[in-house]
Amino acid sequence: MKQKQEAFVNWIMTKAELVKINQIHLFFQGTVGKEQGWTLFVGSMTYPLNIEKRDSNMLELSFPFLFPFGEQCYVGCGQQKIPLMITDVVRTIEFDNQFFYNGTDLGLSRFEDKLMLQVWAPTATNVEILLYDNWHTDRFERFSCSRTENGIWKASLDQNRLGGFYLYNVEVNHSWNLAVDPYAKMLSINGERAYLDIIEEQDVDGVSIFDKKPPIIYELHIRDFTIGPNSGTKEKGKYIGLAEEKTRTIQHFETGLDYIKHLGVTHVELLPVQDYGSVDESDWRATYNWGYDTTHFFAVEGSYSTDPYEPFTRVNELKKLIQTFHSNQLKVIVDVVFNHLYIREESALEKLVPGYYFRYESNGDVSDGTGVGNDYASERKMARKLIVDAVEHWLKVFSVDGFRFDLMGILDVDTMHEIKQLATSIQPDVLILGEGWVLPTAHEPTGLASIEQAHLLPDISFFQDQFRDSIKGDTFEESNAGFISGSIVASEAFINGLKGSPSLVKYPSQAINYVESHDNHTLWDKLKLLHPNESRLILEKRHRLATTIVLLSQGTPFLQAGQEWFRTKYGVENSYNSPDWINALNWDERVKNDKYVTYIRDLILFRDDYPVFHLETFKEVEEAFSIHESIQGCFSFTLKDKDQILLVIFNATNKEQKIALPFKGNWQVVVDGTHASLIPLYRLGIDYVLVDPISTFVCVNEQ
Ligand code: CA
Repeated sequence: MKQKQEAFVNWIMTKAELVKINQIHLFFQGTVGKEQGWTLFVGSMTYPLNIEKRDSNMLELSFPFLFPFGEQCYVGCGQQKIPLMITDVVRTIEFDNQFFYNGTDLGLSRFEDKLMLQVWAPTATNVEILLYDNWHTDRFERFSCSRTENGIWKASLDQNRLGGFYLYNVEVNHSWNLAVDPYAKMLSINGERAYLDIIEEQDVDGVSIFDKKPPIIYELHIRDFTIGPNSGTKEKGKYIGLAEEKTRTIQHFETGLDYIKHLGVTHVELLPVQDYGSVDESDWRATYNWGYDTTHFFAVEGSYSTDPYEPFTRVNELKKLIQTFHSNQLKVIVDVVFNHLYIREESALEKLVPGYYFRYESNGDVSDGTGVGNDYASERKMARKLIVDAVEHWLKVFSVDGFRFDLMGILDVDTMHEIKQLATSIQPDVLILGEGWVLPTAHEPTGLASIEQAHLLPDISFFQDQFRDSIKGDTFEESNAGFISGSIVASEAFINGLKGSPSLVKYPSQAINYVESHDNHTLWDKLKLLHPNESRLILEKRHRLATTIVLLSQGTPFLQAGQEWFRTKYGVENSYNSPDWINALNWDERVKNDKYVTYIRDLILFRDDYPVFHLETFKEVEEAFSIHESIQGCFSFTLKDKDQILLVIFNATNKEQKIALPFKGNWQVVVDGTHASLIPLYRLGIDYVLVDPISTFVCVNEQ
């Protein structure tokens, strides 16, 4: 009988997928006939499926009942059945609505006298916890989790289990995956297992009282800053190395934290300190990386810890770093990477809820607007919650003062809104900035947190790439020159940038002005490529002019560490994994170029002292800012407030420029090519000024 029945079947089922909340696609090899009786098998139960559409090698089936998520399901006909895989349905609104969980207790928490572990895995059919005594042995104890509402799986453990390491073992789509808890706050070395202990939430420094100063951001990489031979630091390349005070070069010039303090910036932006995957924490000197390959959103990177094997050490060392910065009146911004995950297929998120956390193109391909393999689907409710919860953790546990969102243009506007609201409720002065690049990701562009939507996000700041390129030339075209090269008239983008980019943002504070960051050539290397035959002295002048333009524009200035002493990466355009000798700050150069350092420091003091350089609205900017003269390679403008008028001149030409003063009067020079001062340098006794070749000049007239 059985043989006879099979003889009529000239097809086999190859794949069954739950694509919508009540729709299954069943694929065949061969041609499916007119068979009826398609069935969903759930344990010993069977449910009839309706045929909606019949293609040559595919059936679309529907059902009117609530799909039994959490149960192993099969689809078939008669005696033949194949496992049902849960696929596209996870990316539907219905799925998000059905399973959104808004609790604050995901991951490890305390519940009465027990420890509670909870993980969101609505498509899983079984979840267990594997508990290990330490990070390296394979022997474990197994604890079953029970499924509760909203696709949460939970288990409680005795308090005496603290100090163990754990993994989730998840059965999903008919196979078992091991996954690190995405809510893990602490990890074993290289993040292979989560650590079973709780970081108590508390301000690392109690109440910090900061001087109210307009922000100036200084970007650095933990390792780069102290790893160089003349950094004077004991714990080179480490969190606590950067927290060392009173460090000096052998020539007794400040380095490290003291140097940053000396410079007068307000915010230090740390390249990623979230756990990332590309550096082996057990042999950190062997590899280098910037760290834009996040593996865990909540946990701290181990390679900057003095003991990456001890989960609390990295947490405490980063806390100490931030606390020390705070006690030195320096705020700390952390660079966070939520736009993609290091390796999608290996990420805990993909193992727990396959297909949920990433964006897909309509043809089923994984969206890759980031250019690094995957785009995080921040618009999905639990994906958004994971980011928002992580931001809360960084604020509450580490008392960070701000976030720089890597490739923010991938994230959606609603997520950024929610982040800003939450962050402000914890830390009212929080500074949030990001890369608002417009990127080809599988999401409606108008809903993305790109520069084009900056008006929707007035409390969030955006890197100004158009201004950057107008100053120094196109970042990606080596031969393209900008204003500082001296041969062009100030462009619209340049003038717009000086005014805080009113054509791009709603408030000047939203404009992050810069000429270099960790990405792409340093300004010095770009200038060397543009002007291979110019002397070092001339290049230095162009460099100084560019930094001055950044500091004297409306908006928030941003400097890359070492910019103030002509940082070079020896022509390496993308040094994300280059050795230390390319990335390290060269403190010998800091010594050699102390005059430039002093100039930048004095310009910062000068800028702080004149509110007209950091106006809050574009109305004020329009009232204050007037173009004075614009000729090829030389641009001047006036800034006017109640009591005084400032004349600012950027001369990028290699000639001395004679510029008429706007009117006769008591003009005092405060900035020239080599000095910046709060006390006037000298008085102008004539009705014009002579501005040195390739230099900045500012004079002020008291009304
Ligand atoms: Ca790591």
